[in-house]
Amino acid sequence: MEQSIKQEIKLKGIPASPGIATGPVFLFRKHEPIIPIRSIAADEVEPEIERLRNAVARSKKELTKVFEFAEQKLGTEQSKIFEAQLLILEDVVLFDVVYKRLKRERKNAEHILKDEMEKYHQLMMASKDEFARERADDLLDVQNRILRNLEEQKLISKIEGSHVIISHNLAAADTLIFSRNDVLAYVTELGGATSHMALLARALKIPAIVGIHQLSSLVQTEDQIVIDGYSGTVVLHPSPETLLFYEKKKTQHLAFEEALSTLRDFPAETLDGHRIKLAANVELEEEFEFIKMQGAEGIGLYRTESLLIGKEVFPSEEEQFEVYHHIAESVFPNHAIIRTFDIGGDKFMTQAMKENNPFLGWRGIRVMLDKPQIFLDQLRAILRASRLKNLALMLPMVTSIKEVQLSKQLIAQAKDDLRAQKIPFDENLRLGVMIEVPAAAVIADHLAREVSFLSIGTNDLIQYLLAVDRGNDIVSDLFQEFHPAVIRFLRRIIERGKQEHAWVGMCGQMAGDPLATILLVGLGLDEFSVVPTVLPEIKKIIRSIHFTEAQHVAERVLAMQSEDEIKAFLKHLMKHKFPDIPIG
Ligand code: PEP
Ligand code: MG
Repeated sequence: MEQSIKQEIKLKGIPASPGIATGPVFLFRKHEPIIPIRSIAADEVEPEIERLRNAVARSKKELTKVFEFAEQKLGTEQSKIFEAQLLILEDVVLFDVVYKRLKRERKNAEHILKDEMEKYHQLMMASKDEFARERADDLLDVQNRILRNLEEQKLISKIEGSHVIISHNLAAADTLIFSRNDVLAYVTELGGATSHMALLARALKIPAIVGIHQLSSLVQTEDQIVIDGYSGTVVLHPSPETLLFYEKKKTQHLAFEEALSTLRDFPAETLDGHRIKLAANVELEEEFEFIKMQGAEGIGLYRTESLLIGKEVFPSEEEQFEVYHHIAESVFPNHAIIRTFDIGGDKFMTQAMKENNPFLGWRGIRVMLDKPQIFLDQLRAILRASRLKNLALMLPMVTSIKEVQLSKQLIAQAKDDLRAQKIPFDENLRLGVMIEVPAAAVIADHLAREVSFLSIGTNDLIQYLLAVDRGNDIVSDLFQEFHPAVIRFLRRIIERGKQEHAWVGMCGQMAGDPLATILLVGLGLDEFSVVPTVLPEIKKIIRSIHFTEAQHVAERVLAMQSEDEIKAFLKHLMKHKFPDIPIG
């Protein structure tokens, strides 16, 4: 009998955690309870309340196990997500309302609970802020857990054999529980690269891809699939040739990574002795050890927004001090650049006010200058942690000199506060600004006179320069790192900054794109701060070229008129010089 061969399908998503995996699918469809409305008699009220209490208690038991497992496997920071979920289960106000309504309305527990929790969920989902929406997912997860326990349904946590987990969405708890099985990779239809699932997958070192819409309608459990977490590619029903291709890519990558690890203790220096600083972008404390293993010279960008995940209020000066102090000690004698809160845009925002254009609204330094007490708490915390003299402070979303001057006044005030309390700090704590708005790029020389360094944030700079939303799939083709306007802008920023004796670095994604490395070295960039996973590749490129050759490449690129031309030229160069390095 002829066997039907399924057609190979290639799909593209957002890379969330690196690595290549091949294997059978496990299609995880989350239990979505259908809740009937049922009236109950007066004498059923107490038993119904008891039933709900039992379901909440079982949910608590389950989540406590998840929390303990997370703490043991991933450490305190990552397990906070589950601590926050446990707090929802202990929310006296919420359950008080539920029990009161149950008594008054005499309806089944499932209906009242869902109705009450849905109100909170709707509120959080309506938020424009990504973090609030992700916390809405956590709430929904808790709700579904209680409902499942009310129905006395079992939790799916065991999967026989190795599988690639595919799901519409994956809650943090599911990601972690599944990891106790032999999980090859995670793929979800929803989610961004900063979702809980993505963060946990990276910490667990399991490849992951997010944002492949409609995927679950195309696959069945046990279908064969290939996951390329480097490029965000998924291949369904791979042909023998495709399987071979990815097997080779995986082997090459592992061998290459092994070879790269030997570079760890060498500096990022060109063959003709031009020294570059190669640091890492960090969001979580768990990454500190990893960046050392990758051979980073400290941290070029610590995004403090991660301290706000799962928080209702801003962390206190003391809480922040603990974290910054830990950073300073972990990277010593290397340096770490702490960026002050960059909230707004697509990031955490506590305000109820909605903005039509949040990326053009109340964001970054604008918020901090309007909230000086919050800013001062953060400045004092950074200053207190600077005793080892290896921290620097960086301001995001700067558009004018005035913002820098006002920030400097607040820094001076924070220093005075500490002096009054006789708390030691680094008197010469270096200050830098991010160049991520075109206005800042145009006045880079003025800004450079005010500070010690500039760090180019290409993620925002490109979105504002080319008028392309950095998170919008529809226009993602227009988000061009190699647009001639971007390259000219970069040269201008680097030249002007250095003329004014500030060093110029880059902490946007472009710094970690191997296709851009030679060009950026040639443009004169002093520092690269990149995602830790790509760091060894970038170091290898830097160590294998001559500075004079890179300058020549930059001159040629600056004369080109289209992104296509520039990319074709750089790809040709890379293929010739570094055939082992994968380029997008
Ligand atoms: C950038 O804009 O390039 C940057 C590094 O900052 P973020 O991605 O946090 O906005
Ligand atoms: Mg930015």
